Amino acid sequence: MNMNETKLVFHAKWYDPVSATVKLFLLSFFPRDGAVEMFDLRAQKLFLKRHVVDSLEERDFYVGNTVVVLSRQLEIIDYADSSTRNHIESQRQRTFAMVKPDAVHRIGEIIDVIQSRNFEVAQMKMVQLTREEAGEFYKEHQGRSFFQSLLDYITSGPVVALHLISRDAVRKWRTTLGPTDSNLARQDDPESIRAKFGKDKQSNAAHGSDSDTSANREIEFFFPSKKSGSGPKTTALLDGNTCCIIKPHAVANGHMGGILTAIANAGFKVSAMQMFRMDKIQAEEFLEVYKGIVNEYSGMIHQLISGPSVALEITSPGESEIPSKFREFVGPSDPAIAKELRPQSLRARFGEDKIRNAIHCSDLPEDGPPEVEYFFKILQ
Ligand code: GDP
Ligand code: MG
Repeated sequence: MNMNETKLVFHAKWYDPVSATVKLFLLSFFPRDGAVEMFDLRAQKLFLKRHVVDSLEERDFYVGNTVVVLSRQLEIIDYADSSTRNHIESQRQRTFAMVKPDAVHRIGEIIDVIQSRNFEVAQMKMVQLTREEAGEFYKEHQGRSFFQSLLDYITSGPVVALHLISRDAVRKWRTTLGPTDSNLARQDDPESIRAKFGKDKQSNAAHGSDSDTSANREIEFFFPSKKSGSGPKTTALLDGNTCCIIKPHAVANGHMGGILTAIANAGFKVSAMQMFRMDKIQAEEFLEVYKGIVNEYSGMIHQLISGPSVALEITSPGESEIPSKFREFVGPSDPAIAKELRPQSLRARFGEDKIRNAIHCSDLPEDGPPEVEYFFKILQ
């Protein structure tokens, strides 16, 4: 082995269902060829010799993430040395972004900008803020002349909260936003988000943290760490709707924005949206009805747990035909067939093969409500 080769080393744990024990590993990643190596810490022996995992990239390796190696879901729990920590943390600064009520209908285009600037979306949730929550979020502006007006605006409809990650995230996102006043932004920085999607000094399309401290506070406010509550509530209506999941491969390949824009352009209303990281138990629970019926079942499970996915509630107020219309718009489950039969469908446009077919969508109208409830009630 080349001794100068960069190697990132982590502590990882894996629950072994056979022995019902948690195994601890030193997990190494070799950026040069995408190989991993696993050393069993209890047994003190090499568990997996240097092995290339095509689906893994350097960006998958950070504390708190789960990576799949040979069908095992390994949770990365710590850095094993300081050079790994320094290297990863400098690449993974956090910031908080919020798409404000006036721009939520253009969320797909805004996510495209986010992805084109190489931000990773770590968490995302559509919520409706209460006035109390809005006042708490903007408490630094309490007493300012525009405070009440700002609360009216920010509670006037749903917002989409985003936890973003990249090198230099706080500064880079503020630059991407442009000046606070959208009119000024159109003069000084016409390509900025506030220039393109905002209206004026108040209705300026999106928010960005102004420092690391604010970013941490704001991320904790919307996405509290476990045990300290669940933060502002989802906008889900849980009422006669259809469920759509943007699958992990489509999220990872940068299609989230394009899919959301296509859904909006086709006239469907997204009434709830949230990013999830499903584990094997959840994926099996969710796809239970397909077990033993669909050949691709185990591939479907592996796809669902391979990274973050985005669940959507598609609403059909009073329109009972929306679930079947949406299903048609998603297209046949095999993208190759979709490309032939329905070239404008989501699976024709964003799918790759039968398992990586971009979208899961409720099959029958009666499947919609329980699927929506699974994400927007049970997993909340
Ligand atoms: P930001 O950090 O660029 O978002 O700007 P601030 O922290 O100064 O203000 C928070 C938000 O309040 C802004 O994004 C605007 O939506 C709103 N805002 C700021 N200044 C004014 C103002 O003078 N009038 C009104 N009506 N709203 C303002
Ligand atoms: Mg501010």
